[in-house]
Amino acid sequence: MLLRLQKGLPADQLEPVLSLARELGYRTRFLDERSEFLSLEGPGRPDHRARFEDLCAVKSVLDAGDAKERHERDGRADTVVRAGEARFGGGFLSMIGGPCAVEDPVRLIEIARDVRARGATLLRGGAWKPRTSPYSFQGLHEKGLELLAAARAETGIGIVTEVLDPRDVEVVGEVADMYQIGARSMTNTPLLIEVGKTRKPVLLKRGPQATVREFLLAAEFILAQGNTQVVLCERGIRSFDPTTRNLLDVGAVAHLKRATHLPVIVDPSHAAGRSDLVRPLARAGLAAGADGLIVEVHPDPSEVHSDGSQAVLPQTFGAIVDDAISIAALDGRRVVLAQPLRAAL
Ligand code: PEP
Ligand code: MN
Repeated sequence: MLLRLQKGLPADQLEPVLSLARELGYRTRFLDERSEFLSLEGPGRPDHRARFEDLCAVKSVLDAGDAKERHERDGRADTVVRAGEARFGGGFLSMIGGPCAVEDPVRLIEIARDVRARGATLLRGGAWKPRTSPYSFQGLHEKGLELLAAARAETGIGIVTEVLDPRDVEVVGEVADMYQIGARSMTNTPLLIEVGKTRKPVLLKRGPQATVREFLLAAEFILAQGNTQVVLCERGIRSFDPTTRNLLDVGAVAHLKRATHLPVIVDPSHAAGRSDLVRPLARAGLAAGADGLIVEVHPDPSEVHSDGSQAVLPQTFGAIVDDAISIAALDGRRVVLAQPLRAAL
C-alpha cells in the first residue's frame, strides 16, 4: 500500500500512522526525504485502506496494493448472482419487468404472465414505495407482498421488490427472491448491513447523487457482512438538464464492468422518465456491458399511481428483450429466458 501523508508532519502526528501499520503487520519505508510518501509492505486486508484513510495524518491512499476491497475486480472472474431462474454476470443477462408499484391484484398477475412470456425471469413491483411527497401513494405494504406471492404462485416468476426499512428485511425476505435497495436508500447503512446479514441476492441501486466510489462502498457494506450476491444497478444520476428524469451514466456501466466482479444492470425507466426513451436507453446500457435490465411495464399506464409516464407496454418490453438477445450475442453473452415458455438461446 502507498500512503501520501500530510506535508511536514511532526513526530507525534506521524506516530499513529506508524503504530497502526505495525499493529496491522506492515513493514514501513519512506520513499522520499521529506517523509511524505510511505510504502507499506505486508498482508493487505479489505478493511485496511479505510483504516489508514481515516487518520488525519494521511492525505490519501495512492495505491491500496494488496489491501483490496471485496468488490474489486482484482483479476477475479465475474460473480454470478442467481435469483429464481435469473442469472446475472459471467456472460449471462437476465430481464426484470413489471409495474412500478404493486397496485391491482388482477393486473399484477396479468403483467407477471405477460413479462414472463416475453422472457423476464423476475417480476418487479414495489410494495413499499419511496416517494418524494408524503402525500403520494406509498404502496400497499404487507398486502402488496401477498399479491407478489400470489403472482409467483400463479406464474412461476421470481420476485424482486424493495425493502425500505431494516425492520422489514425479514418480512420482505419471506416473499422476495431478491431484495431491491432503492436509489434513495443507497446510503442507509443499517439497511445495507441488515440485507448483508442475509444470504439472499440484493439489487443495489445507485443513489442519484452518488459517485461511483460511493456506490461501490455501499455494495461493500453488504459484502462485508458476508453476502456475496450483490447486483449493481445504474438508474441515472441527477443532472442540470431536466430533459430526461435522470442522466443514464453509461460510462459508469462500462467502468464498473472493469472495476468490479459484481454484475451490473441498467434501469432505463427511472433514467428516462418517459416511455419513448426507455428502449433506446436500454440498448445503450446493454451495449456498455450491462448484465441485464430492470424495466417498468404496464398495459395501461393511465391507471397507475406511480411512474405511469415511464411505463412501457408489454410489447415494447418484448422488443427490448429481443434487443438484449441481439446485443448480448455481439460479445458472446446470452440472455437467460424464463422456462419453459422460451428456451435459453
Ligand atoms: C423503483 O424502482 O420504482 C424506484 C423507486 O427506483 P429508484 O429507487 O431507482 O428511484
Ligand atoms: Mn418507479
